[in-house]
Amino acid sequence: GSRRSSVKKIVTDPKERQRLVENILKPFILEDSVYDKVCDVMLDNFNKGLGKDTNADARVKMFPTYVRSVPNGTEEGNFLALDLGGTNFRVLLINLNGQEVDMESKIYLIPQHIMLGTGVQLFDHIADCIYKFMKEHKLENKKLPLGFTFSFPCKQLGLAEAHLTTWTKGFKCEGVEGKDIVTLLHDAIKRKGDMHVECLAVINDTVGALMSCAHSDRQCGIGLILGTGTNACYIERLENVELWDADYEEPKQVIINTEWGALGDNGDLDFLITEYDKHVDKHSINAGKQIYEKMISGMYMGEIVRLVLEKLRKNGLLFNGKGSEELSTRGRFYTKYVSEIESDVDESDFKSTKQVFDELNLTDYTDQDCRIALHVCSLVSKRAAYLASAGIATLLNKMERKDVSVAVDGSLYRFHPHFHDLMVEKIQKLIKPGLRFKLMLSHDGSGKGAALVAAVANRLKEEALQ
Ligand code: BGC
Ligand code: MG
Repeated sequence: GSRRSSVKKIVTDPKERQRLVENILKPFILEDSVYDKVCDVMLDNFNKGLGKDTNADARVKMFPTYVRSVPNGTEEGNFLALDLGGTNFRVLLINLNGQEVDMESKIYLIPQHIMLGTGVQLFDHIADCIYKFMKEHKLENKKLPLGFTFSFPCKQLGLAEAHLTTWTKGFKCEGVEGKDIVTLLHDAIKRKGDMHVECLAVINDTVGALMSCAHSDRQCGIGLILGTGTNACYIERLENVELWDADYEEPKQVIINTEWGALGDNGDLDFLITEYDKHVDKHSINAGKQIYEKMISGMYMGEIVRLVLEKLRKNGLLFNGKGSEELSTRGRFYTKYVSEIESDVDESDFKSTKQVFDELNLTDYTDQDCRIALHVCSLVSKRAAYLASAGIATLLNKMERKDVSVAVDGSLYRFHPHFHDLMVEKIQKLIKPGLRFKLMLSHDGSGKGAALVAAVANRLKEEALQ
């Protein structure tokens, strides 16, 4: 139904309306100096995470991944991969043969009661899915190495030992934080019985994206995810990784999973946080955590927009003050709506915007309402793109390489009509003169990347046995 109970006077004068709208949207328009400051704060947090004496208190953990080298194109064989951490859970069968990669995959749903249930339920469900997948692909008696793309912050003690530090995004399963997820997976596989699957490597989705791109582009040095969540990894020199505890052999480098989503968890971003960001955080399942992520990624962007639209409506500046049940419902304005609304380039028509309004059961709107909604979406997504750009520019400035390709994956980057262009423009402004970069869409990193890392681990294992 239409709700206008708490609505202030409807503003009809166009100039006055414009002025009041601009005023409400002001906190999303940030000057260059603000993004410079985000870079400074980010660098400071990177260094704290890398430092031996500062890591314990650091929010951005800079986890060494134990992935030391990018693929060299000689990887081969059949591998299983698991991809857990975004909207879908996937099981994949991957055949590597030099530069050629074949894969088959299947998506399995993870019902919300499992995402919020116990760890045993989660891993039993995963083992069930692997079992079904192997049956369907007639792999019952095959002995297959497996790579696990597990897209949550993990403290790794080796390639195949990863302790979850904290759940993020939509997951909160009891009894997993602090535990090694490879052990939990192997225990579940044992409970299920009848499978010969060994997990040889756990990687973050950012690492998967990087590995997958590096397979064909030797300049690739950063992996970036802009999807349900956000995070980046990069290749760091061992001498900068003060907590490195393994060998110092060539190559003297390791991929660092920054877990930059946690930036701001100690108040470091308070200078730009808005009332809407605070609201989103407060009502999330991990309040106080992943503050930077909540300003950027797909799980939260639609909700930020929804809160702004509601504020405008309640101030008599949108929809003639009339909302809908849907618009008033938390989480109901999906981030894909932001992409859809912003794809309306032809101002006179607003086809997608009107479609979104219809889906939200909004009935009282004019072209001016469409224009304002589009403006809100573009400001919120622009701030997200610029914040992510500050993170990438900080990495590029730190890496001391002249040419770096950034492998990017995630639904937000993939489907938003301007994210790529906005980022290229902003990163260019924020990096040191002389540096060059490319943002490249990474295809299926979470599958291919996991298989590549598992392939290397498998080769080393076989060599050790000989
Ligand atoms: C997780 C990261 C992950 C990112 C993108 C974040 O919430 O902490 O590990 O890379 O989401 O999936
Ligand atoms: Mg994913």
